[in-house]
Amino acid sequence: MKKITALLLALILLISLAACGAGNNSGGNNAGNHTGENGQDEPSPEPEPEPEPEPEPYHIYDPTVMPEGGVRDGVAYTAYDGIVEHLFFHPVIAYPELAFDGDSQEKGLDDYMVTATEFSRILESVYERGYVLVDIADVWSETTDENGNAVMVRNTLYLPEGKKPLILSYDDTNYYEYMLENGFAYKLILDEDGKIASWGKDPQGNEVVSRDLDAIPMLDKFVEEHPDFSPFGAKACLSVTGYEGILGYRTQTDSTIEWTDEMEAFRQSEIEAVKPIIAELKRTGWTFGSHTFGHIRLGTLSMEKIQRDTQRWFDEVGSLVGPTNVLFYPHGERPDGDDWKQTGPVFQYLQSQGFRILCSVGIESFSAIKKDICAVICDRLHPDGTTLRSKYVDQRYGQFYDVREIIDLDARPDYGVNWQ
Ligand SMILES: [Zn+2]
Repeated sequence: MKKITALLLALILLISLAACGAGNNSGGNNAGNHTGENGQDEPSPEPEPEPEPEPEPYHIYDPTVMPEGGVRDGVAYTAYDGIVEHLFFHPVIAYPELAFDGDSQEKGLDDYMVTATEFSRILESVYERGYVLVDIADVWSETTDENGNAVMVRNTLYLPEGKKPLILSYDDTNYYEYMLENGFAYKLILDEDGKIASWGKDPQGNEVVSRDLDAIPMLDKFVEEHPDFSPFGAKACLSVTGYEGILGYRTQTDSTIEWTDEMEAFRQSEIEAVKPIIAELKRTGWTFGSHTFGHIRLGTLSMEKIQRDTQRWFDEVGSLVGPTNVLFYPHGERPDGDDWKQTGPVFQYLQSQGFRILCSVGIESFSAIKKDICAVICDRLHPDGTTLRSKYVDQRYGQFYDVREIIDLDARPDYGVNWQ
């Protein structure tokens, strides 16, 4: 913990120094002072002003607009109104030996997660099969019908000829405390090139900065190597809670304990530290959605608690990641027990708070525009241990991959598979 704090402080110091240095070089010797040979403090020689590393330009295009002349970068585009597939992941397991070590978490991690190796194989496969990434918020839009009512409509997408659209979302990219000992990344950071990387510890306890051990930098890297996988620049929508902060930074308050000035100072330092990470993610095609503050059950919890939770998400998470109209139901649990046949009070409340795209989990990429309220509901498929072992995997996931080439049976516990 000490190390993390020291690192953070160093980072904050660097950031504030960079900020100070931007407009004022003359007073900036407080950082570089050293004691000279004669024992007197003497100012460091004025350092060569280091140019801020220019981030590589990143282009984001609107898939609902046909490129001029129907061609961009020599690629012909064509209208697409078919199904938009949607896969979701949790943070991926960087070190299976820590995840699958026989402790009480093992079964849950096997059920709901994929390993970094499996994730990489899935990306390769969907890419080879002609899927291209689109952002969830581009697939539907809010408009007004002939009676003046707000409604959601499905957009026509203009895709490179022959390609199929794919939405990705990543749930719980908070890097919860329980994950840290179980083989996951601890947090996202900016590496020395200013790119998103993960920071964590290997099984021997060594600190590791990598772009190959977490699904966020892995996808960034994959798109760098295969730009045609993301013709619009889209990555995934990050579905975040708030009760243990976001992206590995402990930005949350805690009303169950006495909140001290020291805790608040640490929280503020975490908030400052996560801001550049959020900014870089957004600049490079990542978007954010709510997964509720407390990972709550929207089908059973009281309205009062749901309202309090929602407000807290806006206060502690939305204030950092910006506005969103996407909500991912925790546990896939539908508001009011059902959001498909009825529109209950919880759904109405959530919609009134600005959510228009409300996502559950299912056996296909089902979506439906609600008729009685301006909203769309959609189910997502979930590559994870339950489906990788399922006898239905070919039927439900066969368009994305051949499970035999994906599942890492050497790394996973020996729970068997239900396919031939
Ligand atoms: Zn979740």
